[in-house]
Amino acid sequence: MSPQKAEHVMLFIPGPVEVREEILEAQAEWMIGHRSGDFAALYGRMQPKLQQTFYTKNPVYLYTSSGTGIWESASRCTVRDGAKILHLTCGAFSERWAEVSELNGKQADVLAVEWGKANKPEQLAEALQKEKYDAVACVMNETSTGVRNPVEAYAKILEQYPETLFLVDVVSIYAGAKVDVDALGIDICLTSTQKAFALPPGMAFGAVSPAVLERAKQVKNRGYYFDVVEIDKHHQKNNTPSTPPISLMYAADKQLDTMLAEGLEARFARHEKMAAIVQNWAKRAGFKMFSEEGYHSPTVATIENTRGIDIAAMNKFLKARGMMISNGYGKVKDKTFRIAHMGDTQPHHLETLTANMDDYLKTL
Ligand SMILES: *Cc1c(COP(=O)(O)O)cnc(C)c1O
Repeated sequence: MSPQKAEHVMLFIPGPVEVREEILEAQAEWMIGHRSGDFAALYGRMQPKLQQTFYTKNPVYLYTSSGTGIWESASRCTVRDGAKILHLTCGAFSERWAEVSELNGKQADVLAVEWGKANKPEQLAEALQKEKYDAVACVMNETSTGVRNPVEAYAKILEQYPETLFLVDVVSIYAGAKVDVDALGIDICLTSTQKAFALPPGMAFGAVSPAVLERAKQVKNRGYYFDVVEIDKHHQKNNTPSTPPISLMYAADKQLDTMLAEGLEARFARHEKMAAIVQNWAKRAGFKMFSEEGYHSPTVATIENTRGIDIAAMNKFLKARGMMISNGYGKVKDKTFRIAHMGDTQPHHLETLTANMDDYLKTL
């Protein structure tokens, strides 16, 4: 590593998350042409591993963008002219996806709940009885509020609406909790590299059902860069329409091997364990979870700053000890703080972090 490399600060922020050195180094492979056989081999060997981690037989496409690019793709490709999309919102990310639909000229209805609460399935059932939708979009793990939404219950309701495509953002929970794409009938399940995947930023993955391709063919203006029909054509040849981030693919390939070697169930259990460590610390230290009881995320804790401590000062203290957490997001920026416990972070890292936060609290 170069002598200029900055001192290591372990990130407990919800993206980009801490990336293991071995994964960073995997990006240093020699370049290959993206129309070469070597590239097709790399793409091809990633596919079954991606399908395994998404629990799907559907293809998993690679997008050269962060997760937001797949929002745009999903909104553009699944909603026909004159039809509507329904967005379940409960925080900053789910609200922004609704905005992306609108900015792409789609008619979007929004079912909102107060930040910190989960979108309840009854709300969805009621909305679907009133109006016809081409798609329902939701964020499984709202990274701003630390809420894990009951997507399994939404899936049950959507079984009665085969014409309505089910779009689920799993950006901050992918491989941190089970999301059985095929069992839940999720039509587009999307994530990006820099959160629960624990890679550097720059790429996104979407498991896309055949129903989405059928629907897309009925949508006139899908654009080009994020058009699923175009992407699928190249996918059939283990390729991408434009030049992908090959270095990141090397890293992703290695990371998928690590995930499967750990075992997905073991990985989920590790995330539960880390969530418990942070939730118990918050209670012990005199704080309160911002997320609704029963809906706490297994991958990120949003904690209400009930003691009114100076988060920036605590972070400065932590940084001197080689670690960093995050302030709140959006309109709860000052009211909350966030601790990510996703990706390759281990329970012992959280034990160390919480011990250091206790040290800071003792200085007050
Ligand atoms: C960060 C985040 C996004 C945005 O993803 P980018 O990769 O930054 O574009 C979308 N959804 C959720 C839930 C997120 O946490």
